[in-house]
Amino acid sequence: EKANIGVTGLAVMGRNLARNLARHGHTVALHNRSETRTRELVDRFGSEGDFVPTYSAREFVDALERPRKLVIMVKAGEPTDAVIEEFAPLLEPGDVIVDAGNAHFADTRRREAALRERGLHFVGTGVSGGEEGALHGPSIMPGGSAESYASLGPLLEDIAAKVDGTPCCAHIGPDGAGHFVKMVHNGIEYSDMELIAESFDLLRGALGYEPAQIAEVFRTWNTGRLDSYLIEITADVLAHTDPATGKPFVDVVQDQAEQKGTGRWTVQIGLDLGVPITGIAEATFARSLSGHAGLRAAARGLAGPARTPLSGSEAERFADDVEQALYASKVVAYAQGFNQIQAGSAEYGWNIDLGSVASLWRGGCIIRAKFLDDIRAAYEAEPELPTLLTSGDFRKAVEDAQDAWRSVVSTAVRLGIPTPGFSTALAYYDELRAERLPAALIQGQRDYFGAHTYRRVDREGSFHTEWAAEQRAEHPA
Ligand code: NDP
Repeated sequence: EKANIGVTGLAVMGRNLARNLARHGHTVALHNRSETRTRELVDRFGSEGDFVPTYSAREFVDALERPRKLVIMVKAGEPTDAVIEEFAPLLEPGDVIVDAGNAHFADTRRREAALRERGLHFVGTGVSGGEEGALHGPSIMPGGSAESYASLGPLLEDIAAKVDGTPCCAHIGPDGAGHFVKMVHNGIEYSDMELIAESFDLLRGALGYEPAQIAEVFRTWNTGRLDSYLIEITADVLAHTDPATGKPFVDVVQDQAEQKGTGRWTVQIGLDLGVPITGIAEATFARSLSGHAGLRAAARGLAGPARTPLSGSEAERFADDVEQALYASKVVAYAQGFNQIQAGSAEYGWNIDLGSVASLWRGGCIIRAKFLDDIRAAYEAEPELPTLLTSGDFRKAVEDAQDAWRSVVSTAVRLGIPTPGFSTALAYYDELRAERLPAALIQGQRDYFGAHTYRRVDREGSFHTEWAAEQRAEHPA
């Protein structure tokens, strides 16, 4: 009996995807560069379903029914190219190679074009949800040809998370579309995490709450519109006590955030496409800043304001105000992320359905959240929506939150609590809604020093002012 699908690369992610497929009744061929991982999987989990362990590339390819579906789940980058080169020569036209690792979408575009020339389908797919998600139901974002999705899609939909019976998996678009969407997912994840972390810092700095108390605040928020996986796990982390010292866990962890690079990619591509994803950029820079230990040590003595905790009615209102500021800033983060997908889709001709992206992020992935269902509805009602901020319910929620949002940011400024995420989100909101921006002055400056020209509000065309002559006329010596 031939296998329905094969997985090569059996570290934690590949192993769990293979087990998930087998648990859904599919026969799964297994392969890994070093044999021990393959043997270990069969030894420990062989009883979960039908596995076909193989120990060479030829054996792996021969074990698969046609058209072959072969999932690569190895370290992203050069290893992926090495593995593709190992298998592609053994495949036949119509076979499908799936890269489920965290590839850069530009690599996926290159690989897809090269393999298409050789008659093979290449599907770069985003997978989110970590190792638990891979086993119990991730969110899956496959790119590649529609033809490849016809044979591969049903298997992926089987193993994906489900929300209201709908699989958190849908064909995103051609070539790099799936990995692009996964990249933006991770960018939004950076932004979401930064905003939650700032909320914690504010509640502690302005109210003097202990981490365990703040955990309770997050648990309450998680019963409302902020209901999400990230809020849920934040409450768990904050409530956790370090067994060795008895201190709050969060206080024994070094305050230097690391990153594997998908946030950085999102920001780089945001700049390339000219999309102002300021929330994601600020969150990425905040991680980077936290890691500059030497710089921070040098600056530690710089003067700041007195940090007198809030009192009276201001204190009473504050936690609720932070909830509103968090919600509004989160809407901005998602609005920017969806605009980036829109821009990528236009640039590369992917024709991505934003409602469907919101729908498949509702479950399985790290940014899964109740309000993604509202985003899905907003884009289904209006696919060309210029920004989530102007869509019915979001518009009202953010307008209702703006007083609290401003109050939280001013309190943060007054007490010297850094809130780059909240501040940049509010600035974005005010920039977008502004009648006039000081960009007019910037155009004047550019024309002055570089003759870069400007356009006028009252006439068509490009204009240049002879600045030296104007100066002489206005200020005769
Ligand atoms: P790793 O990223 O640690 O990769 C280890 C696997 O890659 C092993 O199977 C290893 O084989 C194989 N490998 C490495 N180099 C080569 C090579 N040159 N040739 C052949 N095989 C090679 O594993 P993870 O399971 O953590 O992640 C797999 C992929 O999934 C990555 O692209 C990752 O970015 C992505 N991902 C990970 C998530 C997570 O939460 N961990 C979430 C979503 C995506 P060997 O055993 O022989 O060393």
